[in-house]
Amino acid sequence: MKLLSAIVPCYNEEENVRYFYDEFIKNKTFFTEKDLDYELIYVDDGSADKTADEVKKLIAEDSRVHLISFSRNFGKEAAMYAGMKEAKGDYVAIMDADLQDPPSLLPELYGWLEQGYDTAATRRSTRTGEPPVRSFFAHRFYHLINKMSQTEIVDGARDYRLMKRQVVDAILSLSEYNRFSKGIFGWVGFRTKWVEYENIERKHGKTKWSFWKLFGYAMDGITAFSTAPLKAASITGIIFCFVSFIMIIVTIVRKLIFGDPTSGWPSLVCIIFLVSGIQMLCLGAVGQYLEKTYLEVKNRPLYIIKEKL
Ligand code: UDP
Ligand code: MG
Repeated sequence: MKLLSAIVPCYNEEENVRYFYDEFIKNKTFFTEKDLDYELIYVDDGSADKTADEVKKLIAEDSRVHLISFSRNFGKEAAMYAGMKEAKGDYVAIMDADLQDPPSLLPELYGWLEQGYDTAATRRSTRTGEPPVRSFFAHRFYHLINKMSQTEIVDGARDYRLMKRQVVDAILSLSEYNRFSKGIFGWVGFRTKWVEYENIERKHGKTKWSFWKLFGYAMDGITAFSTAPLKAASITGIIFCFVSFIMIIVTIVRKLIFGDPTSGWPSLVCIIFLVSGIQMLCLGAVGQYLEKTYLEVKNRPLYIIKEKL
């Protein structure tokens, strides 16, 4: 009998815990058909509500349910990593608690693995229910990062995916601190089947991602999977040196031939502002990488487990 592990990161999802379980369990006939056993791992990412208590109630009813509780909120990336580390399955699925990743899609995903794919991943074909501004910036972000990075990062890809053991082990071997899973999944490679589905709005509660949180996430993604900003800083430096060199020659020649007195105070101020602005921008880009390096070097654990059931 093969084992399928489902990992459910939860942050303040008390209303969704049982709801998710009920939906997940609807696959029972499919599991018996395929001679699959399952384990359901809820990762409580430092929720302030009764998420952990709800999971404990489920554990009392079904011994296949497990709980990992963090000592505080470490973020979804850490929750997914912890879940994968604890999962014993030959197949591992990652699913959101809010039912935006429908468990009814599992049989289809499993079907693709049977056909020889290593990963069956999902992407949403629509972004209904999302503010248009957010969709706009999301599309721009994917466009930009794919230009800057060698790793393919698929627009609309969700974290919902079913993977074979080998893929999970590969992902676990990347133990970096600044985790950007959308990139890591692509980076490890393997044969991936993309399954599209229409976006579903979350059942209860509201999204934990504000615009600025998403913006920060996008920045993390860029620093984690591209060093293009560093190259851009160097190239800008070279261009500016070149331009100023020409300007120096022009000024000297003008003075020698035409005896033209130097004028142009306003343009000088503009140039100083422009150049120092660009300098700060480049320094900031370098700082971003330095910050990430600093956090990486400290080698802190990705999460701290408070309780494991
Ligand atoms: N989540 C988490 N830790 C966090 C934020 C979110 O474990 O710090 C979980 C959350 O409980 C949910 C999933 O990650 O199961 C996706 O979060 P959400 O639905 O808020 O994101 P969205 O679907 O809007 O992208
Ligand atoms: Mg959601």
